[in-house]
Amino acid sequence: RPGGGIVAPVARVLTVAGSDSGGGAGIQADLKTMQALGVHGMSAVTAVTVQDSLGVKEVHQLPPALVRAQMEAVLADIGADAVKTGMLHSADTIRAVAEVLRDCPELPLVLDPVVAATSGAALLEPAALAELRRSLLPRVYVLTPNLPEACLLLGRAPGAIDSVDAMLDCAHALLQLGPRYVLLKGGHLAGAAARGQAVDVLVGGEEASGGHPAAVESAPAGSVKILAGDWWDTPHTHGTGCALAAALASYLALGRTVDDAARAAKSYVAAAIAASYPLGSGRGTLAHLP
Ligand code: PLP
Repeated sequence: RPGGGIVAPVARVLTVAGSDSGGGAGIQADLKTMQALGVHGMSAVTAVTVQDSLGVKEVHQLPPALVRAQMEAVLADIGADAVKTGMLHSADTIRAVAEVLRDCPELPLVLDPVVAATSGAALLEPAALAELRRSLLPRVYVLTPNLPEACLLLGRAPGAIDSVDAMLDCAHALLQLGPRYVLLKGGHLAGAAARGQAVDVLVGGEEASGGHPAAVESAPAGSVKILAGDWWDTPHTHGTGCALAAALASYLALGRTVDDAARAAKSYVAAAIAASYPLGSGRGTLAHLP
């Protein structure tokens, strides 16, 4: 691990993400998650969004050299046990992040391919998608797309994934883009709310057969897991994707396997959604409880 061989008394996680002035998503969600899970959270801010409970009003990117400097400073001195990336915004920033991470190939990277806010605001420039595929996806340990992001990465029609079988097919196609694991989130699956289930699929790696059978509904092949959780019907889910990836990175930093970390992250987010609260006149957000 980077950090000059220093043994830290706590697990350390770096988030490389955008700021949400409303405090619900982005680095704010990541740091709250890390605090709740007992790891030391650090941040390299990529962009500042002007945002409230109704949506994103403005997006201002920070210079890629500044993103790089934030990452290099903390990695060289404090070190990290895992890195999570969220909103990266531009191809230049993606290149800078990839270059820094090239110097620490062992550091587990959880990449949440943030493309747009639920309100529709673009958080990744369209031209940056090719750079993400080229310079970061092959370096990723766990990729955590939702269904619209997965469709975009694969060039499939939005809404093309309409069943758990289609999710599995899609997750395997995403593995071909280079990540070691894909945790494909099924929150957008048609009928999820009606069925009362939030189903995610985890594919990849070699260690996915171990584990905790109680949470595994089926394991059709050695490297496939279907994670099912209860659906919580609330509009106050702003920042859910950020929290899931941050929790996953935190559990990996604490030494858990991907399987175990994915399940624990899903439970963490489910509890945070169950306790979520309204804010302002739009969507509220998750409660990050220890
Ligand atoms: N703002 C920032 C900075 C984010 O990183 C994200 C998602 O990753 C969002 C907003 C989107 O949150 P939501 O889709 O819940 O509105």
